[in-house]
Amino acid sequence: MTAPATLNVLQVNTGPAPFDVCVVGSSNLDLVVTAPRHPVPGETLLGTAYHEYPGGKGLNQVVAASRAGARAAFVSALGDDSAGQRLAGVLADEDIDATAVQWLASTATGRALITVDAAGENSIVVIPGANADLQPAPLPDARVVLGQLEIPVAVVADAFAQARAISRMTILNPAPATALPDELLRQCTIVIPNEHEHAQLGGADRLFRLGVEAVVTTLGGDGVEVETTDGRRRIEPFAVQPIDTTGAGDAFCGSFAVAIADGADPLTAARFAAAAGAIATTRAGAVPSLPRRADIDALLAG
Ligand code: ADP
Repeated sequence: MTAPATLNVLQVNTGPAPFDVCVVGSSNLDLVVTAPRHPVPGETLLGTAYHEYPGGKGLNQVVAASRAGARAAFVSALGDDSAGQRLAGVLADEDIDATAVQWLASTATGRALITVDAAGENSIVVIPGANADLQPAPLPDARVVLGQLEIPVAVVADAFAQARAISRMTILNPAPATALPDELLRQCTIVIPNEHEHAQLGGADRLFRLGVEAVVTTLGGDGVEVETTDGRRRIEPFAVQPIDTTGAGDAFCGSFAVAIADGADPLTAARFAAAAGAIATTRAGAVPSLPRRADIDALLAG
């Protein structure tokens, strides 16, 4: 086994900041229909239930960060409609700073139309709406900036460049998988892919050559792998009884960012985040499944 993974903290600005974590990402209202099966093209079916939930990787991850104990800020785009008002209410309830949220008058808030069949299998249509129109803008100062790819890549790149210009840490969750410009990867301190995204990015060595300091790969029920130029370490999953893995990846990313902002090295942060991810699998839904700090600490304490 190689030496513990560490991060060169000398390159990082650990000075005071108004926020611990700033998430730059998507916001959706998820419209969830339950039906006995998926309709075939041209068919009309009677469903059994309908619910609306806050969603989008950005919103999920900023809620995860706030519940894990961060002073959190969110950069996202909402349409000036009832869905936007609802999501803004969620941010307020979760104590998340929404000063940098962009309200776009001529666009609808993002929505995901989700059909769940009796076997629990999903089919999803996402309407990005305002998420596709998020514009580069001055970023709230935070120790750690966390982004994903449900918004324009250029906006993530601009946010990370702003953060790196003042030596703040940047964490990219490259989901959903897409080809990424080297200019963006060069601005990433840490990348958190799943196995599929890890392969699509060309592996950790390529990312290290571009200047990434740690690659943290989520492996679902197989745990986490943490790679730095010092070597590779596996974190075994926490033993839980999963009922719904929705939200586990977002719980992981948001809580990982909190631990990094607290000064943890990537291995320690990944263990904290693996506990958060494991808890999220024991609860239904995305936002409702995101754990609070006390729950994470309790699982870590065993
Ligand atoms: P993604 O949605 O990004 O693929 P994962 O499903 O890999 O995310 O989940 C993120 C993390 O949550 C995993 O790396 C692991 O730490 C934790 N996790 C997920 N599923 C389980 C499980 N069945 N048991 C314990 N931990 C889990």
